[in-house]
Amino acid sequence: MTRLFGTNGIRWQPDKVDDHNFAIELGLAIGTYFGEGKTICLGMDTRVTGPMIFSGVVSGILSTGCDIIDIGVVPTPTVQFGVRTLKADGGVMITASHNPPEFNGLKCIDHDGTEMARVNEEKIENIYFSKAFHVAAWNAVGDINKNNEMIFRHIQHILSIFKPKDGQKPLKVVVDCSNGPAGDLTPYILRTMGCEVITLNAQPDGMFPGRMPEPLEKNLQGLMKAVTDTGADLGIAHDGDADRATFIDEKGNYVNGDESLALFVIDTLKSRKGKVVVPVNTSRKVIDSISSGGGELELTPIGSPIIARRMGNVNAIIGGEGNGGVIFPENMLCRDGMMTAARMVEVLANNDKTLSQMVSDLPEYYIMRSKYECPDNLKAKVLDRVKEISHDLDILDIDGVKIEEENWWVLFRPSGTEPIFRVTTEAKDTETAQLKLNEYKAKLKKIIEEIE
Ligand code: MG
Repeated sequence: MTRLFGTNGIRWQPDKVDDHNFAIELGLAIGTYFGEGKTICLGMDTRVTGPMIFSGVVSGILSTGCDIIDIGVVPTPTVQFGVRTLKADGGVMITASHNPPEFNGLKCIDHDGTEMARVNEEKIENIYFSKAFHVAAWNAVGDINKNNEMIFRHIQHILSIFKPKDGQKPLKVVVDCSNGPAGDLTPYILRTMGCEVITLNAQPDGMFPGRMPEPLEKNLQGLMKAVTDTGADLGIAHDGDADRATFIDEKGNYVNGDESLALFVIDTLKSRKGKVVVPVNTSRKVIDSISSGGGELELTPIGSPIIARRMGNVNAIIGGEGNGGVIFPENMLCRDGMMTAARMVEVLANNDKTLSQMVSDLPEYYIMRSKYECPDNLKAKVLDRVKEISHDLDILDIDGVKIEEENWWVLFRPSGTEPIFRVTTEAKDTETAQLKLNEYKAKLKKIIEEIE
């Protein structure tokens, strides 16, 4: 069946869709799913097409008889916080997260504030494609009310988690908010925590004049330079909707998401033992840190909604992905870039080492990623064949097929939206990682040729 939702919501380029009623019909499908009389908390990021899509989605939702609480231009986690705090029945965030400025999109939030489970997204897709919209009577259509205080309450909630310790080291931090919705929030949180804060790209601007919203190393050159130029202890970058935070060390080096996740895991396990939930493509830098810290590993398929839900089910102490999306259950069961930034400041402030020293103390592993074309209709057969030829090795098949050996692993994962397999390898040295990548891509090629 055709899908609307990817791993994290729906993404599209508004001027490239054929159906000009797309946003309205999405609103109709979402409102029909939640049901007449229900309340939906709604927010959007800073994208220029936000108000246009907002109007269409609002029109659709109101006509199904759902009420809307509009919390304004906010980070995605603030909508998730709003759903819980306002006891709404669900939420909608209009955002394309890290995608370029010409894109926009939409994420749905379940009643508990977590990103919507796939099974519920499928219900919305079914309503959308069958056009089985519920239309309320003229005197039962929904109402829309503004709530401007949710952002303030979210910040207060994050700050309430941190208790500064006596003699805590004051840090100098450069924050790059990507012209997104956390521009005046993360700096405020960090200043309240006692940091000296320098801001970059803090003004909200949907043209993203400062940098592209994906916090990749190539997009953070300005931040890396600002950290070294100002002699800062830390650089922090959000993606376009501030559910993620990426870090730069005091030498101006990019810290990858697996490394920062490993540091959070190590620090959390110092004071609490328990389960740590991460997806199958997580680096052994994190996995080894869980076992050496006395934690218990819980592996899931890829996708933050799955990780968040599993964390709730097993009462985990921390979880997250290697892309800067970290979930701290003392905050809430969703990724929150502002919370992640504040937590890194806490980790650094309570540690004698610099960030670069902490990163260099992590176990050494090298990860490599590639992709290989494969028609969608062959993907399941290819996976079965990979399992057959690897039967004498350690196999994990909760999401794609992962082969785990003592010094390396490889993961084959079919893309849900493109006719490709993603192939990831990790080893203790780059040569082995590259060797295994080449070897398994060659095996994949042979398997696909045999099946075709
Ligand atoms: Mg995001």
